[in-house]
Amino acid sequence: MKNIVFIAPPAAGKGTQSLLLQEKYHLAHISTGDLLRKASQEESERGYFIKEALQKGQLVSDEITLELLTERLKEKDCENGYILDGFPRNVKQALAYENVLKELGKDLGYVFFLDCPKELLKKRIVGREICPNCGAVFNSLIEESKPSVEGVCDRCSHTLVKRKDDNEETFDARYDIYMKQTEPLIHHYRSLGVLHTIKEEDKDAVFKKIEEIIHE
Ligand code: AMP
Repeated sequence: MKNIVFIAPPAAGKGTQSLLLQEKYHLAHISTGDLLRKASQEESERGYFIKEALQKGQLVSDEITLELLTERLKEKDCENGYILDGFPRNVKQALAYENVLKELGKDLGYVFFLDCPKELLKKRIVGREICPNCGAVFNSLIEESKPSVEGVCDRCSHTLVKRKDDNEETFDARYDIYMKQTEPLIHHYRSLGVLHTIKEEDKDAVFKKIEEIIHE
């Protein structure tokens, strides 16, 4: 199985699609956000730098991120293919990653761009409500995802909560970083002839399109 890279704005569904692919095709799922959150717990200078960037919602330095990713790519479960979720975030990371691939004798594989309008992304984040008891996710701004009773979990009747960073201000900041730094990657990968654009649809329809491309 070839490796997979997702390029997508926040809340476009790359986490969801990564999990679906991981379950069905037994690929390793590498989220640089998860790698960095784990490394931020280290009692070291590196741990301190990461924690600071994460707290401010800024990108962690390319050097640190690439170092952690390269360590992870050498692990055994990446031999049969992996999904990159959250990396690369800018053209510099993409170029450095291409060098790492050469060194490790691996291929870039497929690059999927999940294309989703900004207004829908904002609604997904700003309206998101989570059940702290069972983990179910609802959305007070999207008709088909509203809980049956406002503020109450359909599955376990617990009171729903909002995450602190699920607000309009943080969304705008993250979207801004995406447009400035990550969006240029679309042109980069298009010019390499490896980009597949998938327009917003429900999660099963998007997954079906990804599978069609993989099986071509
Ligand atoms: P995510 O879980 O992908 O939303 O990432 C959470 C946070 O981790 C981001 O806001 C960044 O601070 C950091 N992060 C994740 N991936 C990268 C990356 N490729 N380069 C730099 N920082 C990253």
